[in-house]
Amino acid sequence: MNIIDGKMLAANLRAEIASGVAKLKEEKGIVPGLAVILVGNNPASVSYVTAKEKACVESGMYSREIRLPETTTQEELVNLVKELNVDPAIHGILVQLPVPKHISDKAVIDAIAPEKDVDGFTPINVGKMLIGEECFLPCTPHGIIKLIEFSGMDIKGRHAVVIGRSNIVGKPVAVLLARKETNATVTLCHTGTPDIAKFTREADIVVVAAGRPDTLKGDMLKPGAVVIDVGVNRIPDETKPKGFRLVGDADFESCSAVAGAITPVPGGVGPMTITMLLWNTLESAKRVK
Ligand code: NAP
Repeated sequence: MNIIDGKMLAANLRAEIASGVAKLKEEKGIVPGLAVILVGNNPASVSYVTAKEKACVESGMYSREIRLPETTTQEELVNLVKELNVDPAIHGILVQLPVPKHISDKAVIDAIAPEKDVDGFTPINVGKMLIGEECFLPCTPHGIIKLIEFSGMDIKGRHAVVIGRSNIVGKPVAVLLARKETNATVTLCHTGTPDIAKFTREADIVVVAAGRPDTLKGDMLKPGAVVIDVGVNRIPDETKPKGFRLVGDADFESCSAVAGAITPVPGGVGPMTITMLLWNTLESAKRVK
């Protein structure tokens, strides 16, 4: 059984991105810039945003972190996004979700200029992805495709089962797997699927993005399947310094006994999500005329 090392793949790609950044600086004098906006103090969001800023600086990009109080209004946030849309030093804008409940995430996402939407969340980029036009691919789904390829599995002609149909993970992963370039046959499962195991037992690839521990167990897998575990769940654990440990959506012990390859949590999908964000930011800066 092979553990798919997301950290290693991310490090390889980040080295490539860093040399792309250096080249762009040298040839065109452009430094890719990413603005990361965080509203409030959600602990998971704070740690994601910190990791994104660090990765951005390490790759030679310009990072502008904007931390706003929980009391920020929707209008203030939308106005800030609009300012960043026309700021020439910024090539990518990321608003860390979830935003506080009094702000509509749709209103904020809609305000981001599609050419700076390095998260790939605006309806324009989602639509372009669906019809196969050039666009910013959403980071987690794009990273998942890279991880499956890195596992050594040739995706073409394989049966892939995706568990979860969110707009940021499940649905776009299903679309990317079914594209002609990737050519998998895709089954999308969710809470309305009566017997998920019936599908996963037939699958060569299982992507689980349900946000619930133990959604996938070893007895639900076909021997040799590739498992991509997207879930990040905090389980209280007093033996850990932070008082919790992270687990995925797959039961690692039973799944790793049956799977041919599996991503760990942490160290699988997470590092790839940030890497694909850097990738999109560099692409955005390269497009500047
Ligand atoms: P989400 O918006 O909560 O969506 C979860 C999806 O899973 C929903 O479509 C839900 O179905 C489905 N689902 C929930 N329980 C299920 C079950 N028992 N059986 C079948 N389907 C089930 O979550 P998300 O944003 O997609 O994120 C999923 C997980 O990935 C979370 O743990 C999140 O933290 C993690 N994540 C990690 C990264 C990373 O970079 N590592 C990035 C994004 C997300 P319904 O639609 O029917 O409700």
